Amino acid sequence: MNAGKEECFNLPLEIIKKTMNFDVAVLYKVSNVIENRLILEVVKVLDSKDSRLDLKEGRRLRLFMDNPDKRFVNEVTAFLKKRTSYINVPGMGCDLIGYVYLPENFGGAYLFGGDFFGKESSIKSHEVSSVEIMCNFLSSILLKTQFKHQAENDDLTGLYSSRKIKQAVDRMIKRFERKPDSFASIAMGDIDHFKKINDTYGHIQGDIILKEVGQILSDSMRGYFDLAGRYGGEEFLLIFDETRQENALAIVERVRKNIEQHKFQQVDKSGKVLENKFLSITMSFGIAQLSKASEIDEVKDWVSMADNALYFSKNSGRNKTTVYIPDKKQPDTIT
Ligand code: GH3
Ligand code: MG
Ligand code: MG
Repeated sequence: MNAGKEECFNLPLEIIKKTMNFDVAVLYKVSNVIENRLILEVVKVLDSKDSRLDLKEGRRLRLFMDNPDKRFVNEVTAFLKKRTSYINVPGMGCDLIGYVYLPENFGGAYLFGGDFFGKESSIKSHEVSSVEIMCNFLSSILLKTQFKHQAENDDLTGLYSSRKIKQAVDRMIKRFERKPDSFASIAMGDIDHFKKINDTYGHIQGDIILKEVGQILSDSMRGYFDLAGRYGGEEFLLIFDETRQENALAIVERVRKNIEQHKFQQVDKSGKVLENKFLSITMSFGIAQLSKASEIDEVKDWVSMADNALYFSKNSGRNKTTVYIPDKKQPDTIT
């Protein structure tokens, strides 16, 4: 879900690699420091010649800070000194590591690495200064992206915030006004009997379920619909661009069944994981399509149609999806 967040690395990293003529550029995230171990995660590698096959994105490196593996001495030095560090290996090439600082609540530190290969390569002092400046630049870009992400996304689920998803719905209505032949659908989803889950298993359990539902929705979002947001407490709004209600229905039904079959990790009231214990939940949905007949001027008009359909799903036993049909008191409900 944080794919958007990571895209911000590409451009600055490419700029640094090109400007400096590095053979390989890499960005590590400092994912943890446990006692004397520094744990780095490879976030992004720009390596056109595949010369560092040991650096795969997503790979975790565990480095001993008091006695690091020879190949990663420089990473450890840059981390400990919190500034750019470099090593020239005569006849082999050289390695320069920069420190990219972000406050802890914005993801903490990153390390930037640049490699020059070849017998003649060695790092010059002006190159160290340039990389240091570029790492500061990278820090500001990352910080800006994190701010944006925090403002636009719900903390618990990582999905779009209510404000952001409403803005997206509004944009679709405006586009429809300009292009009345286009079509789009939304789905409102609400967890069934969620209050009972909180009351029985505690608020922490409730939060875990919300988080996992958010994950299921964002995983489904990649292939099947365009945006998902946390509309309210346990209500989620999905947007299907250029999708008719029949098609939205087929997708929502798949999502609903995924949720019904998902095993949610069970925890006790203090949040401790209960081994091999899982819970099941269900969700109800209501779908509404934007159409010429529907007279939608504002976000709330469209959302209330989806809400109306959701209401029927709830009233006819829950764990169902209903499509809103104008001028029909009882829309068709699917289980
Ligand atoms: P229904 O099937 O009709 O939707 O019943 P419900 O119990 O899900 O609906 P109701 O609206 O009565 O209760 C919603 C509950 O969601 C109440 C509230 O405590 C809980 N809730 C809302 N936001 C959060 C949250 O962020 N975390 C947790 N744990 N619970 C939340
Ligand atoms: Mg609700
Ligand atoms: Mg509910």
